[in-house]
Amino acid sequence: MRIILLGAPGVGKGTQAKLLSEKYSIPHLSTGEMLRDFVTNSDSDLARNIKETIDNGLLIGDDLVIQIVKDRLQRNDCHNGFVLDGFPRTLKQAEMFDDATAISRTQMDSSSEQGKQVTNTGTGLNARHGSNGISGYAESLRSTSSQSAVGEGPDQQLNYAMGLKPEPYNISVINIDIPMEDIIKRISGRFSCKVCGKVYNLNFLPPIKAGICDVCDSVDFTRRKDDSEDVVRNRVLVYMKHTAPVLKYYQNRSNFHNIDGSGSVAMVENRINSQLSNK
Ligand code: AMP
Repeated sequence: MRIILLGAPGVGKGTQAKLLSEKYSIPHLSTGEMLRDFVTNSDSDLARNIKETIDNGLLIGDDLVIQIVKDRLQRNDCHNGFVLDGFPRTLKQAEMFDDATAISRTQMDSSSEQGKQVTNTGTGLNARHGSNGISGYAESLRSTSSQSAVGEGPDQQLNYAMGLKPEPYNISVINIDIPMEDIIKRISGRFSCKVCGKVYNLNFLPPIKAGICDVCDSVDFTRRKDDSEDVVRNRVLVYMKHTAPVLKYYQNRSNFHNIDGSGSVAMVENRINSQLSNK
């Protein structure tokens, strides 16, 4: 199962992505978390730039983000699928992702002749860069930015030479939708356990016992710096300008699902699962 979760900041993508990851035993790939981990663990100019960008509610450059995702998708745990959370966030990322994960028509044709689906074409990504962590991105960007969009197998090269565009691989795209006016209320109440990372919301999902983490009993909580009200406003503006157009990119595909994000976590989870099981 391959899933992209879309939605404005605060709609509950992270929470639903974790549930999907458990249900289907697939990794939860959050670009925001990958970037925050890098910032925490690296003492470099790149990390400082990323931190500043995140703290201001702005977007990291497309080339860097696509490289992070491509590297992550090459790991073995993604072979049975994944749930992407927070990516793609721009039209360019969506297009680059389709291109980078394209399955060549030749492969699809020969597999359908055999009455089978293509199950493991890898990610169609360039394995040359390996999964050397985010620290290798700056270097890999220099060598891939101009060519990463095109698969490099002989089939892809032949198809491109013949002017046939490869097909992006089958992926369910789920947009979690809540009214814009609820977003700031949702994010400004958000906090998480400092020890296990479980995310809570003062207004919608408080810990069962006030001040104690449901999962690990810790009493230590933290709040993302970019969840402050002024930064959230910025993130919503950035979402409207750059990410909302991504919906248009996907919305006419048969595997696009718009999900009502109102109500409890369980209600939203049920809506998502009923769409996915209808497939
Ligand atoms: P998130 O945890 O998804 O809310 O992401 C936190 C921050 O990380 C965002 O506000 C951006 O600064 C950055 N970020 C995460 N994913 C992306 C992406 N796909 N493209 C650009 N920036 C991103």
